[in-house]
Amino acid sequence: TYFITPSIDPLSPKNVPLDENGIKKTLWKYKIDTDDPIITQVSRYDPWKDPLGVIDAYRLVKKEFPKVQLILAASMATDDPESWHYYEKTARRAGEDEDIFLLSNLQGVGNLEINAIQRGSDVVLQKSLQEGFGLTVTEALWKEKAVVGGNVGGIILQIDDGLNGYLVSSVEECAEKVIHLLKHPELAHQMGINGREKVREKFLCLTELEAYLRMLIAIQAGSIDAETNFS
Ligand code: UDP
Repeated sequence: TYFITPSIDPLSPKNVPLDENGIKKTLWKYKIDTDDPIITQVSRYDPWKDPLGVIDAYRLVKKEFPKVQLILAASMATDDPESWHYYEKTARRAGEDEDIFLLSNLQGVGNLEINAIQRGSDVVLQKSLQEGFGLTVTEALWKEKAVVGGNVGGIILQIDDGLNGYLVSSVEECAEKVIHLLKHPELAHQMGINGREKVREKFLCLTELEAYLRMLIAIQAGSIDAETNFS
């Protein structure tokens, strides 16, 4: 078994640099107030992504930051009843709270909008209970965001706890770390810089290409080592 991590393309619409004004205009389009704190999770409505836990954590954060807003952005497929069912559960948990924004491709949230939402957020969450790799974490780290992520799957490969974000295992821990980051924006900023550096080193598409080439060269040379990590 050979292990190569996925990667992001920094020049794709989801990751290209965006100017401050464009980011604000995108958020205003969805009635999000860019003067107040914004926390975001971009992911499908799926129990493993734990959107209900994200809302519970947000509610704890709101006790300390009454103006905090939560964006849950998801891509919805018309032929996926399971995710619609989980969307309904999430919407019920959100209730009448107008500071929770449930956004999706059906409201025109495409790659550029996801890009702007991630860039416009103060803290990005990926509070998964189980995860494959978690490309949303990579995308947010690349955008210099501190990420609070579940201590599972590929999130562990990306978040160095306390350096570019926090790994968490409960709603309470998640809320506590988000509050800490909102209280210490300079720390969040430095963690964001660390995160981008981590992605630059390990999770850009050129690094992935290089890993494949190294693997092919090793196979050709017959010097493949089953323990080798090519990423
Ligand atoms: N994504 C998106 N729009 C959405 C929700 C997700 O473009 O509304 C993208 C997200 O930016 C990421 C991918 O879908 O690139 C999700 O990948 P990830 O590895 O985080 O989770 P998966 O859905 O594959 O379990």
